[in-house]
Amino acid sequence: MKIHAISTGEVQITQSWQVGRGEGIQRLVNTLLDHYVTEWLPIFCFVIEHPEGLIVVDTGSPSNANAPIYFPPWMRLVQRAVRFRIEPEQEIGPQMLSRGLSPQDVRWVVLTHLHQDHDGGIYHFPKAEFIVSSNEWQAASGLKGRMGGYLNQRWPQWFSPTLIDFTDDGVTGFSGRHLLTVSGDVFFVSTPGHSAGHMSVLVDEADHVVMLAGDSAYAQALLLDGSVDGIGPDPTLQKETKQRILQFAAEHPTVFLPTHEWDSARRLDVRECIGRIPGYQESSIFHTGIPLFSSKTALN
Ligand SMILES: [Zn+2]
Repeated sequence: MKIHAISTGEVQITQSWQVGRGEGIQRLVNTLLDHYVTEWLPIFCFVIEHPEGLIVVDTGSPSNANAPIYFPPWMRLVQRAVRFRIEPEQEIGPQMLSRGLSPQDVRWVVLTHLHQDHDGGIYHFPKAEFIVSSNEWQAASGLKGRMGGYLNQRWPQWFSPTLIDFTDDGVTGFSGRHLLTVSGDVFFVSTPGHSAGHMSVLVDEADHVVMLAGDSAYAQALLLDGSVDGIGPDPTLQKETKQRILQFAAEHPTVFLPTHEWDSARRLDVRECIGRIPGYQESSIFHTGIPLFSSKTALN
C-alpha cells in the first residue's frame, strides 16, 4: 500500500477564516471582511494504492476557480475572502496521470466534505464510486445547500454518491466509524464541525494510523491549540471533534494530515505522529506492531 500526497494548486484565505475571531455572526463578518490573508496554502488530495483498488481522498478545485462567475452572485463576500492559484495541469486528474496512475482506474473517491476545494475535481472520476456522509449530503444538496455556500450547481449530472451513516461502535472514541476495505485497514470517522457532515479517512498501517483529516483542522498546530476556524457552522462541535482527534492520537499513534498544510507531505513521508511532538504524551502502544482494529465488515 502506498499513499501519495498530491498538491493540486494553492489557496489563500483571510486570516480570520483560518483562525476564527469573535462569536456568532461577528465571527462570520470578521472572516469575510478581514484585510489580512494567509500565505498561499496547498490543496492536497491523497491517493491510496490499495490491494482492493485505487482510493482517492478529495478532488481539489478546478483551475477556473478564480473566474468572476465561478461563485454565484450571493457569494461575492466569500469570493473576496478566498483566492486560488491553480493551473489546469495541477488538477488531480493530470497529476495522477503524470505519476502513472489513471483516474479511470479509481475504485473509490471519498470526499471528506463538499466544500468546493474538495469536490471541484469530481468530473475527473466518472467511473468511480463516490462516498460522502449522509449529513454532509443533506447540508450540501438543493437550494438550502446552495444558499449555505455549497456549489452544488457545479456537480456533474451523474454525481450520485454512496451515502454513509455513522454509528458509534465504541472502538475509536469518535461518534462513528465506517470501514471501506474488506481488510479493514481503511475506514472513516465522523469529524463534524468545520462542515455539517465532515469525515476523515484513516489508514491503519499497523503501528500507526495515517489520518487524512480534510479540514477538521487547517494545520496540526491549530489542532493542538484548540482554536476554531472562522467558517465552520458549529464551533462547539468543531472543538469537540478536535478533542476527539487528540484523544485518539494519544491512544493510537497518528500521522495527522490536513488538506491545507504544506507540512502534511513531509509528515506523511517520515510518518511523523502527533505523539512524537515534544511535550505531547506518547502512547503506550507505540511501535507494538499490533493492528489497531480487526473487524472484517466492509462497506459494500
Ligand atoms: Zn472546507
